[in-house]
Amino acid sequence: MVLDGVAIAAEIKAEVAAEVKSLSERGIKPGLAVILVGNVAASEIYVRSKVKTCGELGIYSELMTPPESVTTKELLAMVAGLNGRDDIDGILIQLPLPSHVDTKRLLEAVAAEKDVDGFHPVNVGRLQSGQPGLQPCTPAGVMQMLKRRSIDVSGKNAVVIGRSDIVGKPMAMLLLNASATVTVCHSKTQDLAAVTRGADILVAAIGRPGFVTEDMVKQGAVIIDVGINRVTDEQKLVEFFGDDPARHATFAKRGSVVVGDVHPEAFRASSAYTPVPGGVGALTIAMLMANTVKAAKLRRAG
Ligand code: NAP
Repeated sequence: MVLDGVAIAAEIKAEVAAEVKSLSERGIKPGLAVILVGNVAASEIYVRSKVKTCGELGIYSELMTPPESVTTKELLAMVAGLNGRDDIDGILIQLPLPSHVDTKRLLEAVAAEKDVDGFHPVNVGRLQSGQPGLQPCTPAGVMQMLKRRSIDVSGKNAVVIGRSDIVGKPMAMLLLNASATVTVCHSKTQDLAAVTRGADILVAAIGRPGFVTEDMVKQGAVIIDVGINRVTDEQKLVEFFGDDPARHATFAKRGSVVVGDVHPEAFRASSAYTPVPGGVGALTIAMLMANTVKAAKLRRAG
């Protein structure tokens, strides 16, 4: 089974649009503020897509674009202003920030009830203790995907490769809260393949193209590939996709193709998998929209 992130994202977005409509009947229009520092091309693309999706779903959005030279102090003042505004329900600081900015301090300055990325220590703590709160969009999207496609998590062996604050750790916590038996792996894990071969649900969030190979996968496992890696080397294109005409056409047109952290051949062993692109990545923005509406409901609708 291919776990179609685009289709699941469409389901979530339709539900969000309906909630926005019902909130508007009560005079509430959810609002998202996005802070985009400098001119990082990839960040600009992500932010454009987030702002566009807000418009499609009836969510108010405000884009703030301070220059690369902005200081931590100036950004803190910007966040404080947004924290105090009633029409702003969610505040998103697009990462990465320039190295001179104190990212952790800034993320902590966002009011926990407006932290739609789920990175604030209060929300991290709520997730850890199984309390309702705002959860990081990418792992929350994975959980939605499993739930909506009736993939049972309870009692399953789940292995998460990657321990980042953004993906790996919250993913492990969500799976644990859903009663999976969870193992978290990272760059110091010994005999990684032996661990991953025990996974009924294998989540790869590593940032290395095609890292998980077929021999690392248990027959019939569910594979969730969070990785998004750009491949510009033609030899790698062939290594990952053979003579797949669609991928070769994309490569010819754009000079690159996207591959996940799982080698495409490894999907053959799975019972269900997320494709790249069109899998987990498609869900992240939908979950951001869902979080913005959730924040509006919790703070303004009682
Ligand atoms: P990250 O912060 O760089 O973390 C990568 C993790 O992988 C680290 O915990 C690292 O271990 C581990 N790792 C690296 N090499 C390893 C190895 N050889 N064996 C085992 N573990 C290894 O990355 P991230 O932000 O979590 O992102 C991971 C991937 O997901 C990237 O491809 C990123 O583009 C993608 N992503 C996608 C979405 C989406 O919307 N789909 C959202 C966010 C990220 P150590 O901790 O020991 O260094």
